[in-house]
Amino acid sequence: MGSQHQDKQTGTGAKPLAPPPLRNDCFALPAGVAWTPVDAALEMLRTRLNPVTGDETVPLQQAFGRVLARDVMALRSNPPQPNSAVDGYGFAGAIVDGAHVLPLIEGRAAAGVPFAGSVPAGHAIRILTGAAVPGGVDTVILEEDVTCDGRQIAFRGPLKQGANTRKAGEDVVAGDLALAAGRVITSADMALLSAVGIAHVPVRNRLRVAVLSTGDELVEPGDTATTGQIFDANRPMLLSMARAFGFEALDLGRVADDRAALRARLDAAAGSADVILTSGGASAGDEDHVSALLQEAGAMQEWRIAIKPGRPLALGLWRGVPVFGLPGNPVAAMVCTLIFARPAMCLLAGAEWREPQGFDVPAAFGKRKKPGRREYLRARIRNGRAEVFASEGSGRISGLSWAEGLVEIGDAERHIQPGDPVRFIPYGSFGL
Ligand code: AMP
Ligand code: MG
Repeated sequence: MGSQHQDKQTGTGAKPLAPPPLRNDCFALPAGVAWTPVDAALEMLRTRLNPVTGDETVPLQQAFGRVLARDVMALRSNPPQPNSAVDGYGFAGAIVDGAHVLPLIEGRAAAGVPFAGSVPAGHAIRILTGAAVPGGVDTVILEEDVTCDGRQIAFRGPLKQGANTRKAGEDVVAGDLALAAGRVITSADMALLSAVGIAHVPVRNRLRVAVLSTGDELVEPGDTATTGQIFDANRPMLLSMARAFGFEALDLGRVADDRAALRARLDAAAGSADVILTSGGASAGDEDHVSALLQEAGAMQEWRIAIKPGRPLALGLWRGVPVFGLPGNPVAAMVCTLIFARPAMCLLAGAEWREPQGFDVPAAFGKRKKPGRREYLRARIRNGRAEVFASEGSGRISGLSWAEGLVEIGDAERHIQPGDPVRFIPYGSFGL
């Protein structure tokens, strides 16, 4: 856990004293700007947030989904030596057009069981896929292209020198960068790290994300809900999102709209988490205690972002720990988490900044919108076209579930007509 935190507090330890990773004003928006465009808000997060997690070394088997703490160089080339790409027969040199017969030598080369000797010029050897190419061999012919009587092979040219072989290091050369710091390790990376001989992987400690719901109206699913009460939908959603993003999710439960209780809960969270996600109470109303407390702490910024859905976000530091005060509406809470909190948390976790990948598909819908703000619609693709959920109401949780991603409508757009290209970002691109 947080070796950086310990060093910071004691001033001792191996690492030199470093300033806190985050400035108190890291969420400050330019003065006088009424509504900040989404891209400007994202650019601010990108340039101001730094990793807050320490690091450790884990066995390869535990590295999946973790953030690489340092660049990792290949310890071995892939392939480590030239080898055969097919089952067949190996010999030296290019083969010209026409019929050829070569005598076979005793023995064979198989994957993991190399042929120790050297193959004399004008001779061939049986070789299997993955076998190291023996001395005297640089070319392999596919067994399907050969007739063989056990002593000789006959085949037709031409065949290029080097055919059906893989060169040493043609994929990765020992000493080259295999994966860069900040990479979130994928299943494919697990194969790459293995192939280049990495058994121990330097990774960041998992970002600890505390999730808290606020509101007098909330009760736990399964409890009895009386008139005026609703089940807490955000907390289970946000906890599962934090886990899907590869973070450690800490459940801080629910608090009523009570400033003292909320203060105590935030204090507890700041002691055990690297970032806090709250939902509800983030606007400027009487019962909006998250924003009030952050304001009181002097490190609060109300982010008025030109985005729909999404009420103002309350961002701030509570005892040095970043807090994302998300809107209470589940749709807005989810969209704001995907668009803002996720990339911010990735940076805090030490991961590289990556745009969620979307692609353009024809719209199956028409829509008019106000220019000057970005809109995200709950969407899915059917028959190659993007459908959107029938209602844009931000309390319509069923639409989140119906959707398989978001359609992003650019700030400047006014009118989308059926058939127009729109950008669809699958939930998977956000790591869900
Ligand atoms: P607020 O942001 O606190 O003003 O809440 C906005 C709306 O979201 C209200 O209708 C709340 O009841 C609702 N809401 C707040 N928190 C949750 C939650 N955890 N689960 C479901 N709905 C919520
Ligand atoms: Mg509320």
